[in-house]
Amino acid sequence: MSDLIRLLPDSVANQIAAGEVIQRPASAVKELLENAIDAGATHIKLLVKDAGKTLIQVIDNGSGMSETDARMSFERHATSKIREANDLFSIRTLGFRGEALASIAAIAQVELKTRKADEEVGTSIVIEASKVKSQEPVACQQGTTFIVKNLFYNIPARRHFLKSDNVEFRHILEEFQRVALVHPTIEFSLFNNDKPVFQLSKGNLRQRIVHIFGNQINEKLLPVEAKTELVSVTGYIGKPETARKTRGEQYFFANGRFIRHPYLHHAVEQAFDELIPDSAFPSYFLYIEVDPSTVDINIHPTKTEVNFQNGQVLYASIRASVKHALGMFSLSPTIDFDTEPTFDFVAPKGYEPKEPTITLNPDYNPFRKPQNFLKANAGMTPNHTGWEKMYEGIANQTAAKTDQEENPEINPNPAHQFETEHANVPESSIYEANKLFQVQNRFIVANVKSGLLIVDQQKANERIIFERISSNAIGQAVTRQRVLFPQTIQLSAVDSEIIHELINDLDSLGFEISTMGGGTFVINTIPSNMPTGEIISFIEGLLEDIKKDKSDSSDDQRIKLARIIAGNMAVKTVKTLKVEEMQQLIDELFACHVPDVAPDGSRVLKIIQVQEIDKLIGK
Ligand code: ADP
Ligand code: MG
Repeated sequence: MSDLIRLLPDSVANQIAAGEVIQRPASAVKELLENAIDAGATHIKLLVKDAGKTLIQVIDNGSGMSETDARMSFERHATSKIREANDLFSIRTLGFRGEALASIAAIAQVELKTRKADEEVGTSIVIEASKVKSQEPVACQQGTTFIVKNLFYNIPARRHFLKSDNVEFRHILEEFQRVALVHPTIEFSLFNNDKPVFQLSKGNLRQRIVHIFGNQINEKLLPVEAKTELVSVTGYIGKPETARKTRGEQYFFANGRFIRHPYLHHAVEQAFDELIPDSAFPSYFLYIEVDPSTVDINIHPTKTEVNFQNGQVLYASIRASVKHALGMFSLSPTIDFDTEPTFDFVAPKGYEPKEPTITLNPDYNPFRKPQNFLKANAGMTPNHTGWEKMYEGIANQTAAKTDQEENPEINPNPAHQFETEHANVPESSIYEANKLFQVQNRFIVANVKSGLLIVDQQKANERIIFERISSNAIGQAVTRQRVLFPQTIQLSAVDSEIIHELINDLDSLGFEISTMGGGTFVINTIPSNMPTGEIISFIEGLLEDIKKDKSDSSDDQRIKLARIIAGNMAVKTVKTLKVEEMQQLIDELFACHVPDVAPDGSRVLKIIQVQEIDKLIGK
């Protein structure tokens, strides 16, 4: 029998590697920016077209490459950054795997122009799908320009799975910001379809943060500084009262690269502990420096996940330094300085500590009867029939029992049951003789004909709101209220992109938002049943959920939005309800088309059949 094992051709191997390193245009952007930084550039320009799908161009004024290096740079495992295995443990540059350029060249049409300072002519190379198309001398500036066209042009399946331009551009913005936040002394600019998005001049870290996130962030930043023998933690955190519902500005950098680290994130959250509400996220920009030999950055091809040897020390240092910064700021009594190591801290001049204030609206009652509920639901067919019938006969347990025996088949889908079981029940019988009560302030329990009905009040609320706004989405007149004092919200570039993308859909759902430029938006109207005090935190929660939303884009965009809006408008907390409020909620729930399933697909209610109760108590 002949041998079966063959070595994969390089072009195939590169395509496979590309799948790991380059997932989307933003991954190529990240690699190219990092290479420019490693090359010592002080000025880096990024141009993209169609969110990088058509063009990604990075122009740097770094070291440039010799003719041979230029050609070599596209080979797999070709790197100038390590020479031997030991170098891996002292790596200070952003690259070292030598995979990025080989990967990009395997899945795009790439043009490279590069010249070293001490050479008169530069080199131009065109390479497509790993094949060199041309290589020739060229007159060009010192430094390097990479032009990457038509990413995934030769892998239609991958190209097909790219998200909309808006989504892909958001990813690019994220990568750009992450890189720019680590190198405030490098000038960066970003152009999207020839329009300037960022032009960041060089400065210090605080200035860079302000350039990226807007002036309003300046007064919100508290400096963090802690240095021990093992680790140094510097950077800024947001003041507690500026914590937002959207987790946008949370950045960890380790030895100059952006990292994700849930464990260290927890350390920050712990430090903020009681200073911010559970639903809010603290902002932070924290820069960790450790001995490179104590950190493993090699565990993931994109190098955003890292392992620290001294994870626990790091955790404690971060928690302590953040607490310390907060303590200096608020002199909060909850901070126990005695048990925390202290760090040198220099308070800014003219600095006056003050107590953080947290604004929550204790009066907010999502179950409050909406004024125009029936109007808002005009056109929806209430599904009262089964619901009414469930209550029927409670006064007469014998009758109920007989009924049950006649119809012992238990339908696992209550919605279906409602539709098919009974009809023509007199309205008056609905709530008679019924007692509703709450369990743990989370569930409403009612006695129904076949057993015990348990309703998850938050999920019920979500379903009700969802149907209200999605029925609007299906073309009904929107019931909206004009807010007395239009509210202004300042958003990061990424969040602004999302709002721009959704502005029409949001409008059709009752949110009229106008854009003032520079990330400032004004909210003029909101759906009529929404409390006006909640607008800003609502928008933040909405943005957060949209960013988290991984569901397929094939969903109708507005239905998806309606789902997210419902999740944010419904209360997240446990809540004591008056009997009338419970009745109101249940009434509205069963007026819904699909009362038993929440917009996110989870269960709203459950009926525990008498037989099950029998079993439960061992009969
Ligand atoms: P890595 O960065 O991991 O070494 P890459 O595939 O990203 O691997 O790059 C390969 C090599 O090409 C680098 O090691 C570097 O020597 C060279 N190179 C890439 N981009 C640039 C650039 N913008 N300027 C100068 N040299 C570069
Ligand atoms: Mg690289």
